[in-house]
Amino acid sequence: MKKIPFLSREKAEEIASEYGTPYYVYDEAGIRKNAKAVADAFSWNNGFREYFAVKATPNPFILKIFKDYGFGCDCSSMAELRMAKAAGFSGEEIMFSSNDTPAEEYVYAAEIGALINFDDITMLPYYLEHVGEFPETVCCRYNPGGTFSIANDIMDNPGDSKYGMTEEQMVEAFRTLKAHGVKHFGIHAFLASNTVTDDYYPTLARQLFELAVELKKKCGVHIDLINLSGGVGIPYKPSQESNHIDLIGWGVREAYEEVLVPSNMGDVKIFTEMGRFMMGPYGALVTRAIHEKHIYKEYIGVDACAANLMRPAMYGAYHHITVLGKEEFPDDHRYDVAGSLCENNDKFAIDRLLPKIDMGDLLYIHDAGAHGFAMGYNYNGRLWSPEVLLHENGSFSLIRRGQTLNDYFATFDCFEEFKEMFED
Ligand SMILES: *Cc1c(COP(=O)(O)O)cnc(C)c1O
Repeated sequence: MKKIPFLSREKAEEIASEYGTPYYVYDEAGIRKNAKAVADAFSWNNGFREYFAVKATPNPFILKIFKDYGFGCDCSSMAELRMAKAAGFSGEEIMFSSNDTPAEEYVYAAEIGALINFDDITMLPYYLEHVGEFPETVCCRYNPGGTFSIANDIMDNPGDSKYGMTEEQMVEAFRTLKAHGVKHFGIHAFLASNTVTDDYYPTLARQLFELAVELKKKCGVHIDLINLSGGVGIPYKPSQESNHIDLIGWGVREAYEEVLVPSNMGDVKIFTEMGRFMMGPYGALVTRAIHEKHIYKEYIGVDACAANLMRPAMYGAYHHITVLGKEEFPDDHRYDVAGSLCENNDKFAIDRLLPKIDMGDLLYIHDAGAHGFAMGYNYNGRLWSPEVLLHENGSFSLIRRGQTLNDYFATFDCFEEFKEMFED
């Protein structure tokens, strides 16, 4: 499918003249349309709630958009809990799906009444030691081990992943929790990442529903919720097709009616914790071509770098690039599009066919709305770019300013002599 930017060159230049480049821009219209489609796809389930994975796009202005659809926040750190709280979420609108969790984060999560999702059985005594009593509803994360397959395709390797508990541990955890007075139980699992197939959630759901029936039998507990977590992917490449959230919702419903309803478990709430699917396509990194270099290959140097968007450097991930204003030009030049880091993997594209790029052109890097800005870092002293929200009426607002050198140097501010050194 042809990948089309959600903003024109003119709009991109207008934003650049206000905030400079590079910048992240998010498409409110796209976010809202997709959020509504998600809510509709699962409207058959009374207790359905999407808990947006805050780590994907940690910005309170984005979180607030999701509030309009009755969604919650999925957090896994103190900063994410605090941000969800600041954005107006509270109590069971916050899911705390952490792992390797520090005590103070459990204490804070308990204080704000978040739903706790235990990643490991050793976390139960740890929680009791640091927080005291368990809440009334507790969720536990499951890992079936082995490989996770759909039809005959291996999608991922839960057996190699650090998350979750074995089935035996789930049984033991539920019995322990029940003995401590916990009344309602949840099951959570994240078994494959960035799946571009409508079968992932339905396959996962069936597996969790069967486990829920087992656990109810073995432990005599009330299963209140099943959390399908994240993993619903997006088509980064033009050759891929989008998932169909309506078909995904339908597939989960089918499994629900076949497995849970006959076991008298038709009251189970379905939760999701999507990040990538909620935001990925609705964010872009916009960067300007500032240098060209002709050596053994042709290079275009842009003013963004891997510190702004790490996925290509870290995972070799493909991000489609459009040269704004040249959408209809032939892709007849082969370039490596590089940033300025002293790191040869700092390339947004390698051997990519693009239209001829002139200095000053704006490059639109697609599908950067999730796990993009969020993974930013400061190597080489490169600073975080601003984040801009493009509203449905074409106006735009700054939702995070760019980092400044003062921000970068701020952690030296406890040393008197450094303060003077960094004064202009
Ligand atoms: C990362 C993560 C998510 C979101 O994953 P996506 O692939 O972005 O949908 C959800 N839940 C947990 C616990 C996660 O770690």
